[in-house]
Amino acid sequence: MKKSSISIIIFTSLILFSVPIFMYVGCFKGFQVKEFREMVEVIYNEPFNYDAGNICYDSFLKCHEVSINHKGKVDTSKIGEYYVYYTYKYKNEILTKKQIVKVKEDEAPIINVEGNNFTICPNQTKTNFKVTAYDNYDKDLTNEVEQYIFGNKVYFKVSDYSGNTRVINRDLNIVDNAPILSLNGSDKIYLKVGEEYQELGAQAFDDCDTDIGSKIEIIGSVDTNKVGEYEIIYKVQDSSYNMQSIRRKVYVYSPNDTTLATGKIIYLTFDDGPSAYTSRLLDILKKYNVKATFFVTNPKGYDNVILRAYKEGHTIGLHTYTHDYKQIYQNIDAYFTDLYAIQEKVKQITGYTSTIIRFPGGSSNTISRKYDGGIKIMSKLSKEVEAKGFKYFDWNISSGDAGLTTNSEEVFTNIIDNLGNKDFYVVLQHDTKDYSVSAVEEVIKYGLAKGYTFMPLSMNSPVVHHHIAN
Ligand code: ZN
Repeated sequence: MKKSSISIIIFTSLILFSVPIFMYVGCFKGFQVKEFREMVEVIYNEPFNYDAGNICYDSFLKCHEVSINHKGKVDTSKIGEYYVYYTYKYKNEILTKKQIVKVKEDEAPIINVEGNNFTICPNQTKTNFKVTAYDNYDKDLTNEVEQYIFGNKVYFKVSDYSGNTRVINRDLNIVDNAPILSLNGSDKIYLKVGEEYQELGAQAFDDCDTDIGSKIEIIGSVDTNKVGEYEIIYKVQDSSYNMQSIRRKVYVYSPNDTTLATGKIIYLTFDDGPSAYTSRLLDILKKYNVKATFFVTNPKGYDNVILRAYKEGHTIGLHTYTHDYKQIYQNIDAYFTDLYAIQEKVKQITGYTSTIIRFPGGSSNTISRKYDGGIKIMSKLSKEVEAKGFKYFDWNISSGDAGLTTNSEEVFTNIIDNLGNKDFYVVLQHDTKDYSVSAVEEVIKYGLAKGYTFMPLSMNSPVVHHHIAN
């Protein structure tokens, strides 16, 4: 063999053998770790597994001879950054690697909105709904909740400290109701001519506007020197242009013109008295210089009241002595006996012979059928009384005070609601009813302010007669 051939063999052998020798030496002279992750993320509360990467990819390395230790603890119940150090030992070689472990949580907080009525005002930028927020890690985040209104929705947004965000929304019902207005004082005010009108104003409430009271507009005025009916209008508009208004009527009246009949006359008539309430009634009538008619019976102890009524210009009419249907309606004679008894009694007290009468129950009463023995007594009596020079008066407004009505306000309403365009009204009340007497002052004030004249009945007064049914 030539010298050069030997050289080639040696050279070739060197090349052939040197590669594994280099590789072998290279692996444990500064060996490497593959697939090592320098940064690892772990979810909060989930287990963390140490991972030293891959040292066994190299077949020349005897994996089992490499010892791997790690240092550093990872507490996954606390979010944050942890460091773990891996130490690899192979024969005399030592390698250390650092791994950053990030414990994080990725659950967004939960928002809870109480209630289901999401009504707000149009100008509202925040809702008052009770909102709470709870996070699995940061716990209570209620104070972090932001809200904003956009269109017909309200959005609630909250982020936890890890940056997980939750947004929820609710549909809104945007409503602004019309303001509510109420008057200070009564909706009807009666003033004597010349008396001062004091504007008491009104109060307003609005569900959306807080200063609505200052926006009340008062329209109208009262001329207290002129008898008449005046109207004051209180108007208010909220910021959604909802308009509301209420009215007050002011009646300016003159209590001293009862003798000047204007064509509209009210005859106040009181049956069945006198009673313990009649004196008070006379005081009221006096105050307004109003004259009325009393269809009296014979209660004991009130002779002086009858006298006072007569002296003060009221008409004393006759309603029978006993007011006992069974007695007075048994026959014609019995009726007249009773009627003359009360006529005589009134004459004794006042000196005046009254021929103005009212039948108990009115001329239309049918109760008399029970007692008259089939003689159609009302038909006969109505003719007989006139033949004997009496005049009988029924009524065209009943106050209802002998029926279902048992309070002053209803008595008042029953009377004034029935006042219309007739030339005269004969009003039936009973001065034996406290609540009925209490309604009289308002009736008078109302009537005077409306231009009615109050008159006592006389033999010349127009009559109201009911249909006779017996
Ligand atoms: Zn009666």
